[in-house]
Amino acid sequence: MRNPDRDAQIAHNLAVWFGRAARDLPWRRTRDPYRIWLSEVMLQQTRVDTVIPYYERFLERFPTVRALAEANLDDVLALWAGLGYYSRARSLQRAAQQMVERHNAEVPRDPAALRDLAGIGPYTAGAVSSIAFNLPEPLVDGNVARVLARVHKVESDIKSPEAQEIFWQSAARLVRADPAVPPSVLNQALMELGALLCTPTRPACGMCPLEKLCKARIENITETLPITAPRAKPKPANIVSAVVWHAGKVLLARRKAQGLFGGMWEPPLFEAASLENARPFFEPFLFPVTELRIVTRKPLRHVLSHRSLAVHVAAAALSTPPPETTFTQLPDPYDRSEWAAPATLAGGLSALAIKILGAAPDPGAPLVLSPSAAKPARASHRKT
Ligand code: SF4
Repeated sequence: MRNPDRDAQIAHNLAVWFGRAARDLPWRRTRDPYRIWLSEVMLQQTRVDTVIPYYERFLERFPTVRALAEANLDDVLALWAGLGYYSRARSLQRAAQQMVERHNAEVPRDPAALRDLAGIGPYTAGAVSSIAFNLPEPLVDGNVARVLARVHKVESDIKSPEAQEIFWQSAARLVRADPAVPPSVLNQALMELGALLCTPTRPACGMCPLEKLCKARIENITETLPITAPRAKPKPANIVSAVVWHAGKVLLARRKAQGLFGGMWEPPLFEAASLENARPFFEPFLFPVTELRIVTRKPLRHVLSHRSLAVHVAAAALSTPPPETTFTQLPDPYDRSEWAAPATLAGGLSALAIKILGAAPDPGAPLVLSPSAAKPARASHRKT
């Protein structure tokens, strides 16, 4: 597969095409490594058009590594709410704190130092090193893997170690193949080609700068590549959630920082076969659980990457004030609970929490929450 002339031709064609076809995106108007790093983290699993307003709001609030490092985690998560995969936001802040501790509050140039930071793997390190610092570091994301699987006719599962090895080796050669093509351009062009032309179905080969070099195109097998092994179906889970209102406030619980939806607020919810089975889990929140009644005729459906949730919402409206819970009483996965007006916490609510509150609104007032926070952004790989 090693062919320096072919690699140089691919790099040259990609660069020429990128020069005229590249989209104008906010993170392409800067060389600020902090901004480029932030965009790369937000773009994982999430579409470009979804990311843009989040990216702009986030930078307005946290314009520097130091500002992010010193922020309250609740505020960081509030600005992330709706983007999904909240562990990315927690790791982002942890890495910013490590940059303050180790790198004078700057994004390091050294790829090894980057990979040593929280949440930064080979892809993100390659993206920041090449795009922000123009270093000849490779990167492979879902788009790049698809392009390379077709260009080189890789016939093993796109996620298999042998295929990944081929992609990374090829990306490492390409980023150095033509000295006239800057690494920043080469890597962005590869990703852009996967986003715009070499799409999962019906790739636009007639417009592709690699048409004459691409083995899948030459052999007319573009629709059969890349090979993807069937994914395991998300496992079903039955969930019961309690929405309890009192005087315009609802009982919300915060999930512990580690784990699914870590640090986010929601009406308490537990995996249980029925409301009766769930009542003991609700007791530590110190409201009269006997008042709970199921209000959803059909369970709400909420699909995560590994789990398919059927959520039954039970509601109660209390006329007398309940006692405050104490933090030590709360069952896993919660570390804190509060009676709160949900609109004040809209940013810190997960999309599932907003769905649940929508099914059992305050009987005394209509519920208004940000629609952007209500829209989860899910996908299996970096999106276009
Ligand atoms: S020729 Fe077609 S299959 Fe090959 S890289 Fe271009 S768009 Fe993808």
